[in-house]
Amino acid sequence: QATTEKREFQTEVKQLLHLMVHSLYSNKEIFLRELISNASDASDKLSFLALNDDGLYEGDGELNIRIDFDKKKKTLTLIDKGIGMSKDEVVSNLGTIAKSGTAEFLKNMSGDQKKDARLIGQFGVGFYSAFIVADRVEVFTRKAGTPVEQGVYWSSEGAGEFDLGDIERPTRGTEIVLHLKKGEEEFLDEWRLKNLVRKYSDHISIPVMMEVEDHSAKYDDEGKEKENHKPVFKLEQINSATALWTRNKSDIKDEEYQEFYKHISHDFADAMTWSHNRVEGKLDYTSLLFLPAKAPFDMWNRDQQRGLKLYVQRVFIMDDAEQFLPTYLRFIKGVVDSNDLSLNVSREILQSNKTVDALKTALTKRVLDMLEKMAKKKPEDYQKFWDEFGQVLKEGPAEDFTNKEKVAGLMRFASTHTGEATQNVSLADYIGRMKEGQKDIYYVAADSHNTAAGSPHLEVFRKKGIEVLLLSDRIDEWLMGHLSEFDGKHLKDVGKGQLDLGDLEDEEEKKKHEETDKAFESLTSQIAKELEEDVKEVRTTHRLTDSPACLVVGEYDMGAQMRKIMEAAGQ
Ligand code: ADP
Ligand code: MG
Repeated sequence: QATTEKREFQTEVKQLLHLMVHSLYSNKEIFLRELISNASDASDKLSFLALNDDGLYEGDGELNIRIDFDKKKKTLTLIDKGIGMSKDEVVSNLGTIAKSGTAEFLKNMSGDQKKDARLIGQFGVGFYSAFIVADRVEVFTRKAGTPVEQGVYWSSEGAGEFDLGDIERPTRGTEIVLHLKKGEEEFLDEWRLKNLVRKYSDHISIPVMMEVEDHSAKYDDEGKEKENHKPVFKLEQINSATALWTRNKSDIKDEEYQEFYKHISHDFADAMTWSHNRVEGKLDYTSLLFLPAKAPFDMWNRDQQRGLKLYVQRVFIMDDAEQFLPTYLRFIKGVVDSNDLSLNVSREILQSNKTVDALKTALTKRVLDMLEKMAKKKPEDYQKFWDEFGQVLKEGPAEDFTNKEKVAGLMRFASTHTGEATQNVSLADYIGRMKEGQKDIYYVAADSHNTAAGSPHLEVFRKKGIEVLLLSDRIDEWLMGHLSEFDGKHLKDVGKGQLDLGDLEDEEEKKKHEETDKAFESLTSQIAKELEEDVKEVRTTHRLTDSPACLVVGEYDMGAQMRKIMEAAGQ
């Protein structure tokens, strides 16, 4: 190296490096998967750019990933022929963490190894996982299509800083050298490495090559062991190198699906479930959609990357293609491989394209079907899904008119029936328990579950044994604004307007109510005069059994919870 300079890691990187080495140690072998995954991504990116600019291959279009190890030097090396990195890219990719909210995320680390491992896994650590097994990592890289002199050298011991320098590098792509820590010699073993690649990276669509000893060279033509034989090495492909989604469903093991999920999602944990489909006909595509088990830490962040990995005729086109699923399904990860789109498709074209719209409709249905199936067959898993992602799904009825009913059917609410805060009652459950003569689905919305459960509006319902849904998520009132009906029944806020229990009241009760109204007429009008400034109307009520009075919002007014949100927002 000619000259190198020292640079500091961003604070978050330092924290992450420290935490990772400690909390992921029991899982250390995943570093190999992460590095192979990056090499594969880099190769995908290059082949995509080379669609329009063949020159980027620099005369060598055969993409692969090579793993070398050196027992004497105790190094493990990964070489790819992918897109490579410029100096600026090296600094930002291997010196900072771009994800917003990272600092806050890191503050939540507890020091408890198990918990932290799970959190960090969700966060996705990638390249930095090399420092779990290495006490020094060197990177040699050059961006495809740039001059030989624009190679970059990066090196770090994973503490506070890294070295950065310019090098000449004849080959494009990236070479990563891990100087293994004492005690990590297990990764300098042909058999161990082969197994790891097969276990974690078999689905990588380009070959992973390794130099292995050619044992057959030990013997002569008659099968006798040669004297004074020196070991001969040959390059061998150790993964199957077929994109997983192109294979037959029946030939793919669950573990293979899970590894593939981790590759595309950057998640460390297993997916909850998936749906893999090949479709031929009007549309011609393959999709593989995964439902994660846990919400990412930045799910509520508006610029969070989302969407599917798009391939066209097996060629990688882009990450985070968000046009293929509606926003309320943004937690789904996966791949869509279309045979109808052109290889030249761009984000702009995706914005308004009939094929894309048709794919979106089809994929949305796939996801909703997958969720319905899970709700039916594995209610416990479904409950876990709902606890993680239910709030996002609640955006559905407003966004997706066509699937409103289907999405509503997937919802779960807290209810007076269970008396628990857990949202585990579906609208269908509710309807199944409706009283004779009950026409509507009743709910109450408040700031917290306890406020909802303690609402005076519930008194008459309790007395009559009528179930009421208890809503307390911020989004609930907005949701109900878009979901006025389910299965032909209206959803009614019991805190709004005149309470008409219709056929649920018998004649005697009705008569009694009319009498009370008359008896209190002068009192209510007197109160109304006193409170003229503050209320629209004062009337007797039959909805209370214990409380003397309550406030009710007009039928067409904003709900109490919504009003508070608007006030908080300064409106
Ligand atoms: P992620 O893969 O989730 O983006 P990583 O920490 O694994 O996070 O990698 C960070 C970034 O570094 C990648 O997004 C990529 O831009 C760059 N990078 C890592 N490895 C390579 C490589 N082998 N070739 C080119 N770029 C790479
Ligand atoms: Mg990565």
